[in-house]
Amino acid sequence: MPPLTITENAPLAHYTTLGVGGPARHLVEAVSEEQALEALDRASSEGWPVFILGSGSNVLFADAGFPGLVLRIATRGIVAGDSNRLTAAAGEEWDAFVRLSVRRELAGIECLSGIPGTVGATPIQNVGAYGEEVGDTIRSVRVLDRKDGTIRDLSNPDCGFRYRSSVFCTSERERYVILAVTFELEPEGLPSVTYPDLESFFSGRAAPPSPWEVRQAVLLIRQSKGMLLDPTDPESRTAGSFFKNPVISEETLRDTEAAARRLGLLAESQGLPGFKTAAGDYKIPAAWLIERTGIKKGFSTGHVSISSRHALAIVTRPGGTAAEVLEFAQQVRGRVQSVFGIALELEPVCVGF
Ligand SMILES: Cc1cc2nc3c(=O)[nH]c(=O)nc-3n(C[C@H](O)[C@H](O)[C@H](O)COP(=O)(O)OP(=O)(O)OC[C@H]3O[C@@H](n4cnc5c(N)ncnc54)[C@H](O)[C@@H]3O)c2cc1C
Repeated sequence: MPPLTITENAPLAHYTTLGVGGPARHLVEAVSEEQALEALDRASSEGWPVFILGSGSNVLFADAGFPGLVLRIATRGIVAGDSNRLTAAAGEEWDAFVRLSVRRELAGIECLSGIPGTVGATPIQNVGAYGEEVGDTIRSVRVLDRKDGTIRDLSNPDCGFRYRSSVFCTSERERYVILAVTFELEPEGLPSVTYPDLESFFSGRAAPPSPWEVRQAVLLIRQSKGMLLDPTDPESRTAGSFFKNPVISEETLRDTEAAARRLGLLAESQGLPGFKTAAGDYKIPAAWLIERTGIKKGFSTGHVSISSRHALAIVTRPGGTAAEVLEFAQQVRGRVQSVFGIALELEPVCVGF
């Protein structure tokens, strides 16, 4: 095993897509599970706090940085089980994994094409888009339990997947290091085309599209919304959606509609956009709420703005700080709260605030 390299005072802005944040006191990029374990042992013997990092596409580090060890999981390897199972090491690039599955005509994650990040991070917030979530196809998650140092497999129900949530970011936050994820996909299965953008893309077609065609459609749609990372695009300094879509009760929905009508933001005949969840609640597009408060795409303060193509994405410019990003997000949140009475939840993980 190659010796562990520990970088001191590593600038975290280089390791996140938002491009802001101070230094990590210590940083290790683990290319094997053994290295990850060794780094964790070292942190524990030195008493360093630990933060596990993937590609940094959903993290906002504070300007003061992180005072302990940032352990970046950079393990590689994909193993095919029986015909429909694929297991990927946590450090594998998510979109490359989706491309491989689609090439093999396995359906189930094609709508999740183009999402940045690592495979190991996808269970954390139950990554989802265009009608699919990883929790629909994850069979098991191989984890290192930091409580007792054991390595074991968690089943799908153990992960407690919900909309943009799982045990990994709620009840068991920071307990597990995800080492690998096994997906059970559908050989020659029909891809999911339930999301309005995709339905309209394929409208008028007699034959259902293949997973590969759905992947291409999703990539085009994401590109039009600035939701594909592109180093030549200044709006790629982003963590994607900064706010989750609120899930509210029917009573709150009625109150919110009444408030919106009083303010002339909704016609008498109109209801709020969104849909009823299986649990009987309502999922409302946060982008609609934000734009109705008067915050438009491209709205900007200092080095931070709302993307010109996506009302949920906060974008930074060189010279921006993490404090500016958080302040800007709180400003947007405050406007939605005061107009609609709905508290938007931040999607990225904020560290060190
Ligand atoms: C342009 C853009 C578009 C996006 N679109 C979507 C979208 O459509 N849907 C969606 O759900 N998300 C989206 N995201 C958010 C992001 O891509 C996902 O959340 C992704 O899974 C994060 O992966 P990462 O490797 O960058 O994780 P990081 O940002 O590095 O980490 C995120 C969280 O996961 C934890 N973590 C990471 N790896 C591990 C591990 N191996 N073990 C334990 N914990 C770990 C971290 O501690 C942190 O809490 C988008 C982001 C961007 C920039």
